[in-house]
Amino acid sequence: MPVELLLTIYLLVFLYGIVIGSFLNVCMIRIPKKESIVTKGSHCVKCNYRLRWYDLIPLFSFLILRGKCRNCGEKISPQYPVVEFINGIVYVFIFLIKGIKIESLLICLLFSCLLTLSVIDFKTFEIPVGFNIFIAVLGVIKIVIDFGNILDYLIGALCVSLFLLILYAVSKGRAIGGGDIKLMAAAGLFLGWKNVILAFMLGCVLGACIHVIRMKVFKEGRVLAMGPYLSMGIFISALFGNEIITGYLALFSL
Ligand SMILES: [Zn+2]
Repeated sequence: MPVELLLTIYLLVFLYGIVIGSFLNVCMIRIPKKESIVTKGSHCVKCNYRLRWYDLIPLFSFLILRGKCRNCGEKISPQYPVVEFINGIVYVFIFLIKGIKIESLLICLLFSCLLTLSVIDFKTFEIPVGFNIFIAVLGVIKIVIDFGNILDYLIGALCVSLFLLILYAVSKGRAIGGGDIKLMAAAGLFLGWKNVILAFMLGCVLGACIHVIRMKVFKEGRVLAMGPYLSMGIFISALFGNEIITGYLALFSL
């Protein structure tokens, strides 16, 4: 493929990423407050100034306004441009790793969903069920594309989630949240059984390490929102799962 075309595609992927990122900001801020994500227009939190279309261009409006409300000068949270930028740059990264194909687009949407549910779980200790349904829909699309391996995906939906369901029943809901179980069921449908087991193990290891640091350094409590860690495991597994598993198995065949 000519370089110019390739660069244009990556630029479009980046722009698409920051536009989606700007919608994710709305979800992250409004869903915990139980506000509608579609009906109400965007406005300044201080003076209620209704933002015009030219104030809503992802990343660029923030830079042009130098992070302040056009009307009252109130500082705009850096969360907006940061989330937009991260979402854009990770989309490009996914396409670079996985190539220009439908699977990359699905992983992009998976990433956006995981990022948003992680922020919401971190704030509220809850994963709204809509996110899990969205991931399950991505899983169904993936099965349609890769129909020959349908059994892998169906077993994937059950293998980790059934284990967690037993854990949930035995511990009477103290060891794991219902939202985490649904998350692993939906992720399994997307990843297949090998990669969802990997995702779960990665999530547990990352959760244990990062949480010990948070408790020691920031003196945070023991309550642990698993969503963000499971999400990291799911994302790593979606991108590199096959390579990690092949590399791990190769260790034993030397
Ligand atoms: Zn204002």
